Amino acid sequence: MKCPFCKEESFAKKKNIMEGWKVARVVEVCALCGAELPQKETENPSGDERDARRAGLAAFLGGDDVEKVSLAGNADRDFCRNCANFIEHPFRTLCGISGDAADPMGSCDKFADKK
Ligand SMILES: [Zn+2]
Repeated sequence: MKCPFCKEESFAKKKNIMEGWKVARVVEVCALCGAELPQKETENPSGDERDARRAGLAAFLGGDDVEKVSLAGNADRDFCRNCANFIEHPFRTLCGISGDAADPMGSCDKFADKK
């Protein structure tokens, strides 16, 4: 690549922008002059960021343990979320019978026990 600042044939290197002791963000800088390069929006996240995102998603989904604990006190109900046809996605839930979005707390006469 050609650096837009020093106009030399250079390459981008990662630089951590620190905020106290934490890395606030990682930018690409010119290896020769150190100028901050225009950041690519589509840049692939580093492995660390991917892991953090996955951990965040796992926390968002609650995980099996959390789910069991939160349901322990509830009476068994024929909620769609307890149905064998209930398909759980990270951001939406589907009914395996109709293929439509399913309300986790809904119910229908086609309820099938998961267990
Ligand atoms: Zn440069």
